Amino acid sequence: MIKATDFIHPEDAAALRQLESIPGFPTLVKKLMSMGLEQLQYGVNMASAIRLSPSQLPKLYNRLPPICKKLGIEQPEFYLSMDPNPNAWTFGDTKIFITITSGLVDMMTEEELDAVIAHECGHILCHHVLYHSIAHYVMDGLDSLGVLGSLGAPLQYAILYWERKSELSCDRAASIVTTPAIVASTMARLSGGPTSITKNIDMEEWAKQADQYEAIRNDGLWNKTLQVAAIMNQNHPFSAVRVKEILKWGKSSQYKTIVDHLSAEKSGKVCSNCKQPIVDGWTYCKHCGNKL
Ligand SMILES: [Zn+2]
Ligand SMILES: [Zn+2]
Repeated sequence: MIKATDFIHPEDAAALRQLESIPGFPTLVKKLMSMGLEQLQYGVNMASAIRLSPSQLPKLYNRLPPICKKLGIEQPEFYLSMDPNPNAWTFGDTKIFITITSGLVDMMTEEELDAVIAHECGHILCHHVLYHSIAHYVMDGLDSLGVLGSLGAPLQYAILYWERKSELSCDRAASIVTTPAIVASTMARLSGGPTSITKNIDMEEWAKQADQYEAIRNDGLWNKTLQVAAIMNQNHPFSAVRVKEILKWGKSSQYKTIVDHLSAEKSGKVCSNCKQPIVDGWTYCKHCGNKL
C-alpha cells in the first residue's frame, strides 16, 4: 500500500495549504457542491461518453483494475469520450469518474496509456478530485452565476497555481505504475507528437530546457512578470518542466523505496516480526529493525 504522503510533490502540498487558507474558499467549495454541480457534470458525462466495463470494450476497460490495485484505490467509473484530441480527466466528489478520449487511445502505446490512466488515478489517491472539479467550474465561466463575488480573480489564479503543482504529484503516481521514462514520453505524445519523432527525443536534453527556462524567467523582474503572465491561465505546467521533474524524481531514493516496497509486496515476502513487505538483499528489516 502506498500513501499520497509517500510521493506528493512538496510544491503541491505547499500550494494546497495556500489555497485552503484563502478566506472564503472552504465556504465556496461547500456552496458549489450544494448547487448540484457534481450531479450536472456526472449527468453530462453519462449522456455523452461510453461507459467502459467488462462487457463494453473490455480490452480498454481491463487496463484500469490493475492500476487501481497497485495504487491501492477504489475503482472509479471509467468512460471513453469520442474526441480526436488526446486527453483524460477525473471529476466528482462522492461519485468519481475517469474519462479518456478516443484520440488518446489512438495515439498512445499501451504503456503510455497506462501512464495516463495512472496519472488520473493519482489524482484520486491524492484527493485532488474535488478541487479539480471546482477549478473546472470556476474556469467554465461560473462567475456569470455570481458565486465567486469579490474572490473572483485571486481565487482563480490560486486554484490554477495549485492545479499545476498537483500535476507534478500525479506524474509521480504514473511513474510508480509505469516508469519515469514512459511518463516523460507521454508528455511528448500528449502534445500530439507522432511516435516516429517522439521515440527519438532525447528526454534528458529536453529536461535541460526547463533549466534554461528557469534562467530566462529569473533574469530580472520584468521577465519574471512576463513569464508568470504566460502561465497563470494554464492548468498544466509546461512540458519541459514536467519532464525535468519526473526524471529527477525517478533518480531519488524516495522513488526507489516505493518501487522496492511495491515489488516486495507483490512477491509476498514479509518480515516475520512486523509483517511488512521486505526486499531481497536486506540484512535487517527497514520497517522495524528486525534481523533477517
Ligand atoms: Zn492531471
Ligand atoms: Zn519488520
